[in-house]
Amino acid sequence: MTVLVTGGAGYIGSHTVLALLEQGEQVVVLDNLSNSVVESLRRVEQLTGRSVTFYHGDIRNAACLDEIFTQYHISTVIHFAGLKAVGESVSNPLEYYQNNVAGTLTLLQQMQQAKVYRLIFSSSATVYGTNATVPYTESAPVGATTNPYGTSKLMVEQVLQDLARAEPHFSIIALRYFNPVGAHESGLIGEDPNGIPNNLLPYISQVAVGKLARLGIFGDDYPTKDGTGVRDYIHVMDLAEGHLAAMRSLPRVNGFKAYNLGTGVGYSVFEMLRAFEKASGITIPYQVLPRRAGDLAACWADTTLAKQELGWKAVRGIDVMMRDTWNWQRQNPQGYQS
Ligand code: NAD
Ligand code: UDP
Repeated sequence: MTVLVTGGAGYIGSHTVLALLEQGEQVVVLDNLSNSVVESLRRVEQLTGRSVTFYHGDIRNAACLDEIFTQYHISTVIHFAGLKAVGESVSNPLEYYQNNVAGTLTLLQQMQQAKVYRLIFSSSATVYGTNATVPYTESAPVGATTNPYGTSKLMVEQVLQDLARAEPHFSIIALRYFNPVGAHESGLIGEDPNGIPNNLLPYISQVAVGKLARLGIFGDDYPTKDGTGVRDYIHVMDLAEGHLAAMRSLPRVNGFKAYNLGTGVGYSVFEMLRAFEKASGITIPYQVLPRRAGDLAACWADTTLAKQELGWKAVRGIDVMMRDTWNWQRQNPQGYQS
């Protein structure tokens, strides 16, 4: 049996492929390389001593999916493929709905045709929008998303629930990630954003290697512990292990289930900055800027359900997140082009 990983060359995908291979799974990756390079998978092969079957293709291409489902006995699909830049989704909504929603519909139709009924979907804490209060539980209201990216995740969750209701064969888990950070402890694979990073930790680490001059802190007047935004940062290897736990639980899932993948702990921007400086020994220049449109003051997970039902919890703390981020960045100052 083989696991199909869509978007497996990307940041979270490549770390999850590594964890799957280490667990002895056979893995096929489908990725259009729109936001990744195949070098990530070469390094995964180097780290694990195992090989990955790679298809350079698009989830919107039904023929390509058909070929994979015909060629391999796929037991489970882990679906990471999609676009994820919030700002870009505002300026180019159709591209986002096309990739994230229409792409997922094509994938689901092909799964149905091939009688592949087990799916793990990359959702996001962004589906809670502005309706929920912290800590977010899975039963909190979803909706009130503030951008097309978030809405695309919400729409897919809705499609998955409707499908699971209509087709009882399906076992579907949506994993709502909080803020993934860090890298594999080897420093060989990590996050390699295109252009100027939108996310906090890639931005800080690019300041540390001199690629960017200083961090801009988006607001210090939020009603939080020190006025800066608070988030639930989770180590990408904890996240990868969360997918393995979800995969083990899929046979027990009738229909659709959503789980938070977070640590349950919120850190402010200043706390993240200080922790990075401690791990790297580098002082990060910064300036406080106005708030970024659409940002929430604070967001962190209630992790009880994933503990109870998936038997999983995050085990890596902020020091390990910072150590591994810095280890990857300093070994690969230009990302995979280094
Ligand atoms: P990423 O961009 O590194 O990985 C996504 C991968 O999908 C890339 O390799 C890209 O080339 C590929 N891809 C995009 N569109 C495709 C298509 N139409 N067909 C085939 N391949 C395609 O992003 P990531 O951070 O690894 O995120 C993985 C998933 O997790 C995404 O669905 C993202 O929305 C979700 N997610 C990410 C975060 C985060 O902060 N990183 C948070 C919550 C949810
Ligand atoms: N942030 C910041 N400067 C940056 C990037 C992010 O101050 O250059 C802040 C942002 O306002 C938020 C936190 O860091 O409070 C996490 O932002 P990120 O974009 O990484 O995640 P998200 O907002 O999607 O949760």
